[in-house]
Amino acid sequence: MAYFKADYIYLISQPPLKNGIVQTTSEGEVIRLFNEEQSEAVEPSEVSYYRGVIVPGFVNSHCHLELSHLQGKIPEKTGLAAFIKEIQKIRECPVEIIEEETLRWQENMLSNGIVAMGDVCNGTHSITAKQKYLLHCHNFIELFSFNPAKAEESLQLGKTLLQQFKALENKDPHKFFTSSISPHAPYSTSAALIKKIAYLPESSAFTVFIHNQESQAEDEMYLHGEGDFITMLHDFNISTKRWEKQEQSSLLSVASWLHQQTKMLWVHNTFSKEHEVLQTMNKVPNSYWCLCPSANLYIENTLPNFSIFKTIPDRVCLGTDSLASNHQLSILDEMKVINNTYAIDFETLLKWATINGAKALGFDSVIGSIEPGKTPGLNLLVGLTDELYFNNHVTVKKLI
Ligand SMILES: [Zn+2]
Repeated sequence: MAYFKADYIYLISQPPLKNGIVQTTSEGEVIRLFNEEQSEAVEPSEVSYYRGVIVPGFVNSHCHLELSHLQGKIPEKTGLAAFIKEIQKIRECPVEIIEEETLRWQENMLSNGIVAMGDVCNGTHSITAKQKYLLHCHNFIELFSFNPAKAEESLQLGKTLLQQFKALENKDPHKFFTSSISPHAPYSTSAALIKKIAYLPESSAFTVFIHNQESQAEDEMYLHGEGDFITMLHDFNISTKRWEKQEQSSLLSVASWLHQQTKMLWVHNTFSKEHEVLQTMNKVPNSYWCLCPSANLYIENTLPNFSIFKTIPDRVCLGTDSLASNHQLSILDEMKVINNTYAIDFETLLKWATINGAKALGFDSVIGSIEPGKTPGLNLLVGLTDELYFNNHVTVKKLI
């Protein structure tokens, strides 16, 4: 048994406890919560007291561990089309190096208070390192295929890869390890393939993700049939002869191709407009919105319109994207980027960093909030102001 006391404990599912105590087993399962009055009954010598606030472990809802060897290799602020061309040029690397970096960055995330991740997989390079089961993990098996005639072939390749990841499920009873097939982006995946993925029986149970409106070029392609992505596809020798511009933006087009029950994680949303997000919530109600602001600054030097997402605060989560487009994999740093540019209260920001990501990945029965029966991990945040304002000086220490 262990007793953790802090100036405040942010439970997430209930109001914070001032001078409260959280009691856990040695494995980190929350047993009981004590408010200030009740905490006097606990033997003081058994209590570890911390100045600061205790919060649940963070969730990184979107990363690409298999790109961890690309840290610092791609120039910043060149735009998404140039970024993708560069990544295709330099992503090949001996598998041993990718495995080593994948393990190192999982350990890094863990030590920075992250307990779960939604990790994108194009192949099996991350499988060896994931067998350490350091974090709860949902693997997004990512498919690209712009040619609608190849949709079925691409789906079958995805299913083969999916089976390799599914074979690792339930090897550690204490960690979630789930997997699903997902399309890469509206500009790289045909409508035929997106529909096939959405209508897979498991796509209502497990989350499907897509990179959404990360660049203005995506809607230039969808609405006007031109722009940087059309040029990029031609540069990759991909024919756009069968491509027809759409009547709606990429977000609304993709939403119209999904099943109403699809559990969807829209990632980036940098150029999404409010009416598009709200219409999508009507069409695909089980939608979550993952923001990766550091990657948006790295690639496009812009940020999403955060005010849209404050109107749906229970559906927003945070991700780091990959080390090809970020200097670190830190949810605390993503919170700082948002807080630096937009007035947002600390409790909402914390929900985005914890329970909402846990819900988006399907892990909220165990993590995301401090509640008896859960094993959420406990982080100590130090450096908030006396009025509990989040700021750039806040640091995180993993307690359990
Ligand atoms: Zn990504």
